[in-house]
Amino acid sequence: MAARKLFLLPGDGIGPESMGEVKKLINWMNDNLATGFETSEGLVGGAAYDAHGAAISDADMEQAMAADAVLFGAVGGPKWDDVPYDVRPEAGLLRLRKDMKLFANLRPAICYPALADSSSLRHDVVEGLDILIVRELTGGVYFGEPKEIIDLGNGQKRGIDTQVYDTFEIERISRVAFDLAKTRQNKVTSMEKRNVMISGVLWNEVVTAVHAAEYPEVELEHMLADAGGMQLVRWPKQFDVIVTDNLFGDMLSDVAAMLTGSLGMLPSASLGAPDPVSGARKALYEPVHGSAPDIAGTGAANPIAMIASFAMCLRYSFEMIAEADRLEKAIANVLDNGLRTGDIMSKGMKQVGTTEMGDAVIAEFQALSA
Ligand code: NAD
Repeated sequence: MAARKLFLLPGDGIGPESMGEVKKLINWMNDNLATGFETSEGLVGGAAYDAHGAAISDADMEQAMAADAVLFGAVGGPKWDDVPYDVRPEAGLLRLRKDMKLFANLRPAICYPALADSSSLRHDVVEGLDILIVRELTGGVYFGEPKEIIDLGNGQKRGIDTQVYDTFEIERISRVAFDLAKTRQNKVTSMEKRNVMISGVLWNEVVTAVHAAEYPEVELEHMLADAGGMQLVRWPKQFDVIVTDNLFGDMLSDVAAMLTGSLGMLPSASLGAPDPVSGARKALYEPVHGSAPDIAGTGAANPIAMIASFAMCLRYSFEMIAEADRLEKAIANVLDNGLRTGDIMSKGMKQVGTTEMGDAVIAEFQALSA
């Protein structure tokens, strides 16, 4: 079996603490399941700035490009608040996304039954929720030109952002959504604002055309993005896969995330286009949360978002579906058993730290793998 090359970028704050739990898991899998992961490690964010004066070095960037998958922790913290803009910690993540051409951002919102009471919504609305938001990540209004503030000369200024999408960008993100839907409940909801945005009209046309030509067996519905936001908090279980643009995806995925409780639980994946020869995609997996400077170094961080990001890596980069299912089940079982880190603590549960939570998930994964 060819080695599975993983490049680890733990980053700053709680990044290295939660990555530590994933490293233990990888070692166990290599020793007991002959998974053949080869890991190497680099610096990103403030840690890279301190060592190299850049948010990621060229050498580490090369390793990221050569890996089968990148696991990313978190970056940033008050120590680096005043570093120059182009070498600020987040620039490392942006460079990875740009150079690896990661155009598809996958944000699952899964509500573990044991945590249904920590959601701000009613138990029955969120219990068992399992939706996936597929957000276009490299186009749209965040990148479109012109993007500027111009002086109108009459005491007024004008701020301009440009929402722009080409056919190929909509086609490739639609395909990601339809392909994923086939492995889930076979339903895609596409969200745009075609009633007021011409780019939304094109988005709608292209998604409809890709569906008709390549995925007629998948159920497709279209929804205006504002209505979609309402439906997400009214009855989120109506959705399976939601595909949307960069701006709406940014907001809708945060709304969906909070249906499920804490930031410390949320994984994500960012994927590039399949290689024309091997079919492999460049991919980066990271928790949604940041470096949590307020709890960094205290051993209190919840490692589940990082571990669940590794589960996504098993699923999407290595097609290790059974292992990914088992790891996600291990997380659910540990929560069912009443273990909680501080961020998800509730009455009657047992509060544990990062390593205890990581160890418990690994022990449960071992038991399920026996
Ligand atoms: P944050 O996600 O780091 O923290 C928000 C709150 O959630 C904090 O109270 C924190 O303690 C808590 N929290 C987050 N993850 C947790 C976990 N795994 N376990 C327990 N509690 C957790 O966001 P912030 O405070 O706005 O930002 C802190 C730093 O992180 C900033 O420098 C910011 O720029 C950076 N940041 C980085 C990323 C990234 O690396 N992708 C994302 C967001 C923010």
